[in-house]
Amino acid sequence: MHIVVLAGGVGGARFLRGVLAAAPGAEVTAVVNTGDDVTLHGLRICPDLDTVMYTLGDGIDDERGWGRRGESWTVKDELAAYGAEPTWFGLGDRDLATHLVRTRMLDAGYPLSDVTAALAQRWQPGVRLLPMSDQRVETHVVVTDPDTGRPRAIHFQEWWIRHRAALDASSFVQVGVDDARPGPGVVEALSTADAVLFAPSNPVVSIGTVLGVPGIRDAVRAASGRVVGISPIVDGAALRGMADRCLPVVGVEVSAEGVGRHYGARSADGLLDAWLVHTDDPATVPGVDVRAVPLLMGSPEATRALARAALDAAGVATP
Ligand code: GDP
Ligand code: CA
Repeated sequence: MHIVVLAGGVGGARFLRGVLAAAPGAEVTAVVNTGDDVTLHGLRICPDLDTVMYTLGDGIDDERGWGRRGESWTVKDELAAYGAEPTWFGLGDRDLATHLVRTRMLDAGYPLSDVTAALAQRWQPGVRLLPMSDQRVETHVVVTDPDTGRPRAIHFQEWWIRHRAALDASSFVQVGVDDARPGPGVVEALSTADAVLFAPSNPVVSIGTVLGVPGIRDAVRAASGRVVGISPIVDGAALRGMADRCLPVVGVEVSAEGVGRHYGARSADGLLDAWLVHTDDPATVPGVDVRAVPLLMGSPEATRALARAALDAAGVATP
């Protein structure tokens, strides 16, 4: 059995953990958002790839949900002592080694997909970890500059982490996406998968960015397996995180139904065959098999049960 999961960072990583537990022995491919990637202090950082890699490789700080367990922050403090901007991004000492290796390989000419595979050699995440694209795509956010009152585009990370998404956004721009191609293996994985799952990741800046790479949306629509999405919105709010700050910017209601309709039915130019919403979160999405199941990934058992429900909706058997 081959399962493909489209994923962002924390929500994607947790869900993937559930998929591996629900379908032991299955081949799992994770197609991961790289629109959050950023260059800081000369280092190329891929937050969502790293979150998935550390989570599945048992190196994640579980409480924070990102970065390395047992992290120290000496380099960050030293950079701050120099006044070296930016100081708002958490770069731990252990984590820095990953960025150093990645940057060195990228500078030597290896594509991100090869670099990711090399890093995964150490972490053995148990899934095939594919960046959505080898080309650079960076999500920027158009905000109103508080000083000038004029629109200004800032990197998504600056908006998300430095400003805690508090600046009102008027749009998201995926810089570079028009020239991007799906990463090696992405389209093949989608077309041969027995099931395609959308993790409960941010529908705009995680899943939306992956789907924005020319060719990926069409490949999902053409997939031979069923396509099942899991709502990141429960009771009208995003769990952990600020996805509810992103949806209104693209004109989508912050509800499980709103996101389901945004993805739409495969039978009607959309993407989904089935959509999982939280128990007691009513939703109707025309043409889509909507199922209400517990969506909280609070424990390994609950996360595995959620993944099993997703695979059941995809029509593939789990042990
Ligand atoms: P990021 O890249 O680290 O922001 O992570 P993702 O885009 O993968 O996931 C963020 C989304 O995960 C948020 O929109 C949350 O609502 C969602 N999320 C987090 N925990 C849970 C959970 O336990 N259940 C569900 N259904 N969604 C969750
Ligand atoms: Ca992310």
